[in-house]
Amino acid sequence: MIAVDADTIAAIATPPGRGGVGIVRVSGPLARDVAQGCLGRVPAPRRALLSDFLDASGQAIDTGLALFFAGPHSYTGEDVLELQGHGGPVIMDLILAACVDRGCRLARPGEFTERAFLNDRLDLTQAEAVVDLIDAGSAAAARSARRSLEGGFSRCVEDLLTALTELRVYVEAAMDFPDEELDLLEDEGIHRRLEALSTRLDTLQEGARQGNLLREGAHLVIAGRPNAGKSSLLNRLVDREAAIVTAIPGTTRDVLKEHVSLDGLPLHLVDTAGLRESSDPVEQEGIRRAWAEIEKADLVLLVVDATLGEGEAEADIRQRLPDHLRVITVYNKLDRLDHVPADCSDSLYLSARTGEGISTLRELLKQHLHYDGDPESLFTARRRHLDALHRTRQHVHEARQHFHTTQAPELMAEELRLAQDTLGEITGKVTSDDLLGQIFSSFCIGK
Ligand code: GDP
Repeated sequence: MIAVDADTIAAIATPPGRGGVGIVRVSGPLARDVAQGCLGRVPAPRRALLSDFLDASGQAIDTGLALFFAGPHSYTGEDVLELQGHGGPVIMDLILAACVDRGCRLARPGEFTERAFLNDRLDLTQAEAVVDLIDAGSAAAARSARRSLEGGFSRCVEDLLTALTELRVYVEAAMDFPDEELDLLEDEGIHRRLEALSTRLDTLQEGARQGNLLREGAHLVIAGRPNAGKSSLLNRLVDREAAIVTAIPGTTRDVLKEHVSLDGLPLHLVDTAGLRESSDPVEQEGIRRAWAEIEKADLVLLVVDATLGEGEAEADIRQRLPDHLRVITVYNKLDRLDHVPADCSDSLYLSARTGEGISTLRELLKQHLHYDGDPESLFTARRRHLDALHRTRQHVHEARQHFHTTQAPELMAEELRLAQDTLGEITGKVTSDDLLGQIFSSFCIGK
C-alpha cells in the first residue's frame, strides 16, 4: 500500500481554458492554514464563504466562493479547501500559486481520488467509476458509471467475497477434525454452496461484460467490395451524410470512423475502402488500413450487392477474415430485388437507400454483441475486472474439481483462498502498488 502523504496537495480542478468559474482544490493538513492565509479566516465547514483571495504578499487576486470540508467528511478524507474563482487561465494559475506559496505542492493526476481510496472513502471500483463517469461516451454509460460509484458493483463483489470466505472457513474448520474429513466430502451443504457460488459468479461476470461493453463500446467494421453500398450503410446507421457516396468504385480510400449509440451501447463504426486488388498506391494503402481495422473489430458487417450476389470477391474476403471474428452478411440494395428473401441469424437483406431492414439490422447487432439493451441495471466495468472475475471463476472451478473428483479438501480450501484473493483485487482489498499507480495515473489532474 502507498502510505498517505502528509503533505498538502493543490491543483486546478476545472478544465484548462476560459470559463465562468474555475476551481482550485487543496487537500491535506495545511488546508486550514491555506484558508487562513488566502481568505483571512477558515470558512465554516460546508458553508460557502464569499471572500477575496489573497496572494502571499496579501494582495487580492480575485473574489470568489470558498468551501471548506473538515476531514474525514470530505472527498479525500482529509481537510479540503475549494477556491472558486473566475475561470481564466491566468487567474487560476495565480490562485494555485497562492496555495503553493503557503506550503502546498502540485498534485499528481488522480491524487485526490488516490487519497480518497487510501483513506477508505472509496474502494477501487468506485475510484475507477469516477473516471468512467467523467469519460462517459453516452447517457447510459454515465448512468452505469454512477451506479458503480454509488457502490453497486462493489456490493455485488463484496457479497460474493463474503460467501467465498464463509465457505473456505467452513471447509478449513472441518479439516481440523480429521475424523470428519470423509463427511466433509459427502457434505451436501458444501456442494450446494459451491454450485451457488458458481452461478452467482456467472451472473456477475455477464453483468460486468455488459458494463464493459457499455463503457468501451463495440468496434464494428463495414467491409465489402467497392460499390456494394458500405458508405451508404454507414450514413444510414449514423443517420447523416458522413461518408461520400458515389457510383464510382474506390471512392472511400481511407477509413472513416463514426460513433453512434445503439440503445445506449456506443458503436464505433468504421467504413473501409472497398476490398479489391488495386494498382493505385493510395487505394492500396486504404485497403491495408481496412484490413488493420478488421483485425481489431468485434464484429464485421460484410456488405454484398444483392443484385450481383456473392462472387469471388466476397469469397476472397471471407477467406482472409480471422476465424474468431463474428460476421453479419448484409445483402444491400433490396429495393432493386423483385422479391424479399428470408433473413437468417447471421445475414439479412436491406436497402441502405430506402432504410428498409435497418431496424432488423440493429436488432441483429444487439443479439450478436450480446447486449440486452437495458442500461438501467448495468454498472461500469473494466477489462481488469473481467480478467479478475475470469480468474476467480477458474479457481472456483478447480475447487469444485477437488471436491468432486480429486476429493482433496485441503486443495479445495487453497483454491477457495486463491479465488478470494483474486476477487479481492477488484475492489482493492488485495492490490499491488504497481496496479494502483497504473489506475490513478490515468486520471486527470485535480481529480
Ligand atoms: P461503397 O463503395 O461500398 O461505399 O458504396 P456506396 O455507398 O458509395 O454506394 C455505391 C453505389 O450504390 C451508389 O451509387 C449508391 O447510391 C448505390 N447504393 C447504395 N446503397 C443502395 C441501395 O440500397 N439501393 C440502391 N438502389 N442503390 C444503392
